[in-house]
Amino acid sequence: MTKTVQAETIVEMLQSVLTAQTNTIPLHEPSFQGNEWAYVKDCIDTGWVSSVGKYVNKFESMLEDYTGVKHAIAVVNGTAALHICLKLVGVERNDEVLVPALTFIATANAVSYCGAIPHFVDSCYDTLGLDPKKLDQYLQEIGEVRKDGYYNKMTGRRIKAVIPMHTFGHPVDLDPLLDICQRYYIEMVEDAAESLGSFYKGLHTGNWGKVAAVSFNGNKVITTGGGGAILTNCDELAKMAKHITTTAKKPHAWAFDHDQIAFNYRLPNINAALGCAQLEVLPEFIKQKRALTDIYANVIDPLQGVELFKEPSFAKSNYWLQVLLLDETYADKQEEILKLTNEKGIMTRPIWTPLHEISMYKDCPKMTLEVVGSLAKRIVNIPSSPGLAK
Ligand SMILES: *Cc1c(COP(=O)(O)O)cnc(C)c1O
Repeated sequence: MTKTVQAETIVEMLQSVLTAQTNTIPLHEPSFQGNEWAYVKDCIDTGWVSSVGKYVNKFESMLEDYTGVKHAIAVVNGTAALHICLKLVGVERNDEVLVPALTFIATANAVSYCGAIPHFVDSCYDTLGLDPKKLDQYLQEIGEVRKDGYYNKMTGRRIKAVIPMHTFGHPVDLDPLLDICQRYYIEMVEDAAESLGSFYKGLHTGNWGKVAAVSFNGNKVITTGGGGAILTNCDELAKMAKHITTTAKKPHAWAFDHDQIAFNYRLPNINAALGCAQLEVLPEFIKQKRALTDIYANVIDPLQGVELFKEPSFAKSNYWLQVLLLDETYADKQEEILKLTNEKGIMTRPIWTPLHEISMYKDCPKMTLEVVGSLAKRIVNIPSSPGLAK
């Protein structure tokens, strides 16, 4: 007889997979199995700990090799990377930027840092990310082309950019979105904070937008403690990115002269050292995370009323965070599952509170967000660290 989803069965299933674990099992913990200590110690031994040093350059070129993006510029965190990305594509005060309502708050905050306004977009069930088809229809209804871009007729503001976010590592359907960007003169900035190691149609995420942001926060696929990177295939934007994240200092052997008000956003060498060691083991992490998906799917998918979320057909995902997706009719189990798993020492959490429900963002323009509303009630993230697959 097939069992239906209950909080108790979920706990049983997770425990059967996570047998070797005795203490509380975190949602995602960093793993240092390689050269981390050697490289960090080298920074301290040589005194090169700050924002100049060989590990910053090495980390950037390793990122370029791994992602296939022409330029990587390492910065202090993913939010700062997003902030600079928006500036690079020309987002200005009072512009609107299309943002999925279902994302980490940093995506919208970066828009606010530019004095621009997030405009919330619905998600689709295949990717958990922004729905290009729905966006296309919506833009036709609400906007019009003017001489310097696409305008929202209701607010009178220019819609300058769109930020697809690859949720939990699962790539958004980017081809139709690129088509939209061309037709409506909108710039694409990829929020690839969660998708290092994820590929869309064979090409790494971060290659598709004009610019992209990655994060190396402590809970991400790899970590530098805190850190991020701007990715771009455009030589000129890469140069500008490096300049404005380095206080716009004019190159000179000793003089301090700057040509604009800019940012101190460069990644310190000591963090980059950690990043080099982590990038060396990233392919192994992803192998382990994908193996964990299969292990979880084996116990979860036979249950009625719930499934383990799988990558969309056009993508190869890093499976950063694993997702239990409850059927609509079992959405009322979400709270019980969260409560019981956490009580039993298995850390789980719901997806983010949709941004249009957060007080600072509740008055922002938005389309109807029924898929976001449904997903927010049905998702439970379960422990996803790479080491768990053993
Ligand atoms: C982690 C994350 C960020 C921000 O990265 P930080 O390095 O924490 O600043 C941005 N967007 C999304 C979707 C993220 O998950």
